Parts: sequence; C-alpha cells; structure tokens
Amino acid sequence: MGVKKVITCALGFTLLFSAGFSTSGMAAETVPGGPSTNGQLSYDSLVTYEDMIKMLKDIEQTSKGKVEVFTLDQYGKSEQDRSFYAAKVGTGPIKVWIQAQIHGDEKLTTRAVLDLLKTFGSSGSKDVEAILKNVTIYAIPMYNPDGSIMNTRSTTLYENGEPKLGSNGKSLTIDLNRDWAEKGFKAKESLVFYKYWADVKPDYAVDLHHQGFKTVYGTNESTTMSLGVSLAPNGPTLPSVKNYNDVTRQMQVYVYDALKDYGYMHIDRYQVGSGEKRYEIDIKGGVVSAMMLGLNYNNLNPTHHSNPAIFFETKGNTREGNLGQKSNGYLTKQNYLGLKAILEGIASGKVNSVDPNRWQEIPAYPLAGYQKDY
Ligand SMILES: [Zn+2]
Repeated sequence: MGVKKVITCALGFTLLFSAGFSTSGMAAETVPGGPSTNGQLSYDSLVTYEDMIKMLKDIEQTSKGKVEVFTLDQYGKSEQDRSFYAAKVGTGPIKVWIQAQIHGDEKLTTRAVLDLLKTFGSSGSKDVEAILKNVTIYAIPMYNPDGSIMNTRSTTLYENGEPKLGSNGKSLTIDLNRDWAEKGFKAKESLVFYKYWADVKPDYAVDLHHQGFKTVYGTNESTTMSLGVSLAPNGPTLPSVKNYNDVTRQMQVYVYDALKDYGYMHIDRYQVGSGEKRYEIDIKGGVVSAMMLGLNYNNLNPTHHSNPAIFFETKGNTREGNLGQKSNGYLTKQNYLGLKAILEGIASGKVNSVDPNRWQEIPAYPLAGYQKDY
C-alpha cells in the first residue's frame, strides 16, 4: 500500500518502522481500535496522509454510502496545497464535530477517528445505530496534513511553492491551535476549517491531541489520557460563556466514568506545567475555544454560532519518537472508547443529567493558576 516506513523526526534522527511489524492491509484487517495480533502493534497505526485517503475511501465503500467522504476543496487547501478530508456519518439532528491531528506530530488521534468511522459505518450494532439515529458526526481525521508529513506540531507558511521566510531568514511557522483569533488566520488551514465549521454549526466538538508524560496526582500511574477544556472550567472565562462551564464539565465526567474502570487507562484532568506546579489552560485563540466563544471572524459567523467542546490528550507524540510500539494500540483504543462514550452520552441525553460538580472527582494536581494567551 506504499506505506512509508521511515519517519524523520524533527530532532533529526530517524525511526525505522519496518522490522517485525505487519505492513499489509491496514484498512482491511485491523480490529477497530484494538491492538493487532500477538500483542504487537503494527506501526500502521501511524497513519500517513496517503494512508488516510485510502482508508477513508475504503470506509466509504464498505459502509455502502453510510459514511460520506469528501474534501473541503471548495473552501481551500493547505499551505502546501494539499486537500483536506472530512467525513460524515449519522442521520440525527445533533451535530458533533470531531477533529484530530491539528498538531502534526500527534498521530494516533487520526487512527482513532478512522476506527470510529469504520465501526460506525459498518457495525450495524444496536448501540451504534442508537447513536447514529440521534447524532450526525462531522469528522476531520487530519486537520494538519502538512505538519503530519513534516512530523511537526506546527505548520509552515508557504508562498509560491516555497516556505515563507521571516525577517530572521527562517521559515514562518504557525501553531494552528492558536490561529482562530481576531488577529490570527495566518495559515490557510485555519480559514478553511473555520468556514466549514461556520457552515456546519455543530452542537458539540471533541478535539484530539497528544501530550507529554505525567503521572496521575498522588499515584505512580502514568497518565494515559487527560481530559481538558481549552477555556478552564471555573476559570476566568468559561463561567460567563452560556452554560458551557457546566456542559463541558458534564462531558468530561461522562467520559471519565466510561473509561476509569479499564485497568490499562489512567485518566486525569489536563493541566500544563511540571512537578507540583500545574496550571489550567485558558486560551482564547485555540480552535475549540473560539468555537465556544462564537468568534465571528470577517463576518463569516454573523449569527455568532458557538458550541461547547472538550479535548482528549493522549500520552506521547511522534516528534519526540516516544510512542511505545506496544502501547499504541491501547492508546488508540482509549481514544476510540472515549469518543464512543461521549457520542453515546450526547445521543441519549444522559450527559445532561451528570452533576457537573463531579468534575472535581477527576484526578488533578492542586491548581497553581491559569496559563493564558491573552
Ligand atoms: Zn496538540
């Protein structure tokens, strides 16, 4: 399938992905969300841009049209002129936006979205059908294809097919998750997805990321996933934004309850910092923050549509080459199960009856303050 087996890291070393791992038929043979045979995971879980396109087309075909796959070319292309791919599945009135890999070195997230589309498109099981009757999923498996190919968190601005240079002679890079801001939209990616979002007007969003390594507060357990909101619950901004302080906490609790009893998952709240000094993030230029704030950039969202959003942060990233080969399958499955849980909670309405104050039950370090971008 032309799978690239070599990924050159930003640090300049090379990871060889071929020896000893299955390379065939990734789309057809892999159990959705699960590790491959013999407990050894194929590095095929690190889906390339080309793989993603093939897999999406395969998913669309096997789903017999239940999953619609399309490009966003009508809105534009990436800085390096690549098409963005999106997919839609479900017939319900509640629209849920799921995006992955806005940071190009956070790769397992893409696989989780593809697994979700594959399962939801063809399973026919009662629980999945119940979700799809009430929800329509708008999925973006790879928000930052250029960054994914470069294996960088950010993307690089281009002009006439060449990297744009700053006054210091270095190429200009943009963190796409800080670019939905009044003074942002510097990268083409941002405007394409913003226009698409303003057209879709989702009711909820989930954003998938990776983070570094940490331990669950008060334990020696390595955190496998953190649940977060890019405008801190009970922080300086969110309590005055509609009912999102409650809804985002309910969403997190719902996912936490669904995942906390799996022995291999160690879930906590997303915080940044190190040691005992941990901060909640409160960033307004983050994509899902701007969604919650109902940003109306260039009058493209004149009704000030907004929606609540949470994110998942899986441990490890491929820039630092620290994704353990054996754990990849579990980390992908964790994302898949978290997505399935929140979709079920939204579809059934059960998420609305969660006590938002139970958010305090999700393990977290004592709050040292807020990290802001304003
Ligand atoms: Zn990220």
